[in-house]
Amino acid sequence: MQYDFFVIGGGSGGVRAARTAAKLGAKVAVAEAGPLGGTCVNVGCVPKKLLVYASHYHDALAQAAGFGWTIDNARFDWPTLIQNKNTEVSRLNGVYETMLDQAGVTLYPEHAQVSGANTVTLASGKSIDCKHILIATGGQPTKPDIPGAEHGIVSDQAFFLDQLPRRIIIAGGGYIGVEFAGIFHGLGVETLLLHRGDGLLRGFDDDCRRFLAEQMQLQGIDVRLHTEITAIQPGQTLGAALNNGQAETADSVMFATGRKPNTDNLGLEALGIELTDKGAVVVNDHYTTNVDSIHAVGDVIDRIMLTPMALAEGTLVAERLFGNNPQPPDYDLVPTCIFSPPNMASAGLTEADARQRDHDIDIYRSTFKPMQYSLSDTPLRCLVKLVVEKKSQRVLGTFMVGPEAGEIMQGLAIAMRAGATKKDFDQTLGIHPTIAEEFVSLREPV
Ligand code: FAD
Repeated sequence: MQYDFFVIGGGSGGVRAARTAAKLGAKVAVAEAGPLGGTCVNVGCVPKKLLVYASHYHDALAQAAGFGWTIDNARFDWPTLIQNKNTEVSRLNGVYETMLDQAGVTLYPEHAQVSGANTVTLASGKSIDCKHILIATGGQPTKPDIPGAEHGIVSDQAFFLDQLPRRIIIAGGGYIGVEFAGIFHGLGVETLLLHRGDGLLRGFDDDCRRFLAEQMQLQGIDVRLHTEITAIQPGQTLGAALNNGQAETADSVMFATGRKPNTDNLGLEALGIELTDKGAVVVNDHYTTNVDSIHAVGDVIDRIMLTPMALAEGTLVAERLFGNNPQPPDYDLVPTCIFSPPNMASAGLTEADARQRDHDIDIYRSTFKPMQYSLSDTPLRCLVKLVVEKKSQRVLGTFMVGPEAGEIMQGLAIAMRAGATKKDFDQTLGIHPTIAEEFVSLREPV
C-alpha cells in the first residue's frame, strides 16, 4: 500500500483527519480539486463572517450619534471589502498548505475518485493504493427547479459579486439566507427575505426564531413567510414571480434554498456504497460506510453541517484508525450561532426537543433593552432563555438573541457540558454591566 490513509477533500473534515492521522504516524495523502480549506475557508464561515463584520458598521455608525459622535461622509465600498476578503482567504489557503506540509501529508491538487475498496484514481490518471479512504468532499448549494433559476445566484457567487446590488431578493429562511439578508441589509441593500415555511430557521427554538424575525423586521428587512419564487424573468432588473400571485423586482436574486452532498463522479455507486435519497454517504457510528476500508465525514454525510462537527468527526476517524483514544462528538450539545442581525445562539435542547423527550421542564426567559442601545433610538431588544429540567435542575438548553450571542454561548456550552445546574448559574456572579449577566440573573420560571 502506498498510503495508510487517503483523504478525498481538503476542507475542514479532510484536513483535520489527515493531520491527526499523520501525527499518529500514518502515511497520509489528500486530494483536493479546489482551493484548500474547502467551503468554510473559501465560500462559508470565514468570508461570511468577514462580510458580517462589515455589515455591523452600519448599526455602529447609526448608534454612534447618541454617544456624541458625528461621522461625516461615511461611505461603503464593496470592491474594497471583496478584495480584502480575497486576500485574507488566500492567506488561509496558504496556512492550510503549510499545515499539511508540516504534518508530512502529500497533497494531490486534483479531483479524485474511489476506484476500489483500497484504490483511489486521480484525474491525472494515476492510481493509488491505500489501506483506508476518507470521503470528505463536502456539499454545494442547489437552486430550485423553476423557470429562470439560472438568473439567480447562490451563496458561492454572492462572495464574488462585482457590484453590490441596490435591491436583492433572498429565497430561503435557513441560516444562510438569514445571514445574507443581514449582510446585504447592513451594507445598505434593500433586502427582501422570502421563506416558504411558517417561520425562519426551522429546527431552532421557536421562541427565538419568532423573536429574531421581529428584530430583523424592526431593522427594515422585509421578511415574508409562506412565500416562494416560482419563476425568474431576466432583464436589466430581474422579475420574480411569487407563489401568492404577486411579483417583485430586484437587481439580484439569491437562492439559499438548500445544499447537496458532493457525491457525483466519486465512483461510489460502482462500489455499491450506500447513499441516502439526497445522495449523502451512509455511515455507521464510526463513520465507516458499508465497505470497511471507506469512511466519510462532514457535510457529505449530511448530519450536522457545521465546521466544528466536520473537525470532530475527522478527528474521531483518524484516532479510531491510527490511535487509541477516540472521543465521539456529542450530537445533543452542539453550540451554534446564526450570525444574523442580531446574533441568535443556542446550545443544547430546545424547549420543543426537551418536551418531546418527556423532560419535565421549567423555562426561564427575559427580554430587555441592553445598555449599548440605551443612548440610541433603536427599538431592538435581547432575549435570553434557559430550559431547565425540574427534577435534576440541570440546564438542558441555553438560548440568546442579541449582540455577540455566539461569543457568549461558547462559555455557556462548556458549563452545560460540565453538567451545570440552575443553581450553578444562580451562584455565579454576574459581570456587570453586560448582556451576559442576564443568564445568571433569571430568578423565576415563566
Ligand atoms: P468542505 O469544507 O466543503 O470540503 C470539501 C472539499 O472537498 C472541498 O474543498 C472540495 O473542493 C473538495 N472535493 C469535493 N469533491 C472532490 C473530489 N472528488 N476530489 C478532490 N476534492 C474534492 N459552519 C460553521 O460552523 N459556522 C459557520 O458560520 C458557517 N457558515 C457557513 C456559511 C456558508 C455560506 C456555508 C455554505 C457554510 C457554512 N458553514 C458554517 C458550514 C461549513 O462550511 C461546513 O459544514 C464545512 O465546511 C464542512 O466541511 P467538510 O470538510 O465536510 O467539507
